[in-house]
Amino acid sequence: LGSSLRGSLDKLRGKSRLDEEDVQEIVKEIQRSLLSADVDVSLVMDLSDSIKTRALEEEPPGGTNARDHVLKIVYEELVGLIGESTEIPLESQTIMLAGLQGSGKTTTSAKMAWWFSKKGLRPAVIQTDTFRPGAYDQAKQMCERAEVDFYGDPDCDDPVQIAREGLEATEDADIHIVDTAGRHALEDDLIAEIEEIESVVQPDLNLLVLDAAIGQGAKDQAQQFDESIGIGGVVITKLDGTAKGGGALTAVNETDSSIAFLGMGETVQDIERFEPNGFISRLLGMGDLKQLSERVERAMSETQLEDEDWDPEEMMKGNFTLKDMQKQMEAMNKMGPLDQVLDMIPGLGGGLKDQLPDDAMDVTKDRMRSFEVIMDSMTDDELENPRIIGASRVKRIAQGSGKDEETIQELLEQHRMMERTIKQFQGMGDGDMQRMMKK
Ligand code: GDP
Ligand code: MG
Repeated sequence: LGSSLRGSLDKLRGKSRLDEEDVQEIVKEIQRSLLSADVDVSLVMDLSDSIKTRALEEEPPGGTNARDHVLKIVYEELVGLIGESTEIPLESQTIMLAGLQGSGKTTTSAKMAWWFSKKGLRPAVIQTDTFRPGAYDQAKQMCERAEVDFYGDPDCDDPVQIAREGLEATEDADIHIVDTAGRHALEDDLIAEIEEIESVVQPDLNLLVLDAAIGQGAKDQAQQFDESIGIGGVVITKLDGTAKGGGALTAVNETDSSIAFLGMGETVQDIERFEPNGFISRLLGMGDLKQLSERVERAMSETQLEDEDWDPEEMMKGNFTLKDMQKQMEAMNKMGPLDQVLDMIPGLGGGLKDQLPDDAMDVTKDRMRSFEVIMDSMTDDELENPRIIGASRVKRIAQGSGKDEETIQELLEQHRMMERTIKQFQGMGDGDMQRMMKK
């Protein structure tokens, strides 16, 4: 699924503007990815609407192509929905975990305790599950493995009493993590029990623990727990499996909270703080989206800052010299493939690229490296006026660079091809030109 989204995005590579049809196609792919990741239907619809509107209304900022622009919008809209990670201050506090049976509460309580201990704090886990046989042993063992304080009482069947006694018994700890019982489904007695524990414990933060595989069920749960104890954050567990955790978005939206931690496996170290970028990229089945949009920004500023002696706009007015080509290749090394670099040249947008023959883009890394070496062996005169390079100069350059004459001819041919395209572009009406330059 991610690959079909990538497919539709790649079709936009050469474009500087999106039309309605492009946007429809992208939005449809995004919908498909999100729905298959268990994101709630109405959330998906809301998201698609805002993505559609923005993609059609907003102008891509100068130097950005349509593809990267729409990716940025998608990323921003999803970050807007999911939010940043729940704030977890590194100071004394009490955290209570709620959620259905099997969602991963007990595992998460030990994992979080381990996490806090690595931050130099002293955590203690209080196990109040008197319902599930073996809950005490499981929690105790995990806390031993995490090397953190633990309190439980296998002989007591009153969770409220255990909570009260547990807080006293572990008063030396900085962080109190209270693990609670869950049932197969939400039941009134579970809600009543957790409300009672809550009033005794008075947690600073209640986290709702959700299995990544939870789908539409997330909504009811989130509502219920939020109403009874107030949910300040979400933990998504079992993200090491195939499920992508889209149901958690519903919970976040429903409780007006955010995601705190991710469970990535069964051992106590398998815990990560939530970080929107990785999560969103995973939801969409795409590579690192944040990195992509940062790369575009960085590349744009680098071209502008470092190549003071090279003016791409000048290039568009005058001759396309080998020096221009050299600059482009340097830029390319820093930024990535040629077609993306062309997109980043201020004033060009994707307009030029649309007109380039496919071959013009097909400069492999090895070939580029040869070209660079060759151009280093050329004089300034030759770089500025490639026309003066005849057979004897080719021979000299070949000797100087250690490349064969054929490669030098290839480089010159490559240059001529790009020059032709740019000339063609320059032939556009003045109005068109000025419009493109202003972008
Ligand atoms: P609880 O009933 O909510 O306390 O859930 P548990 O902590 O007992 O976890 C239920 C099951 O899920 C156990 O077998 C755990 O080992 C497993 N589990 C919990 N978190 C994760 C996780 O992040 N990844 C994987 N693979 N398994 C997990
Ligand atoms: Mg448990």
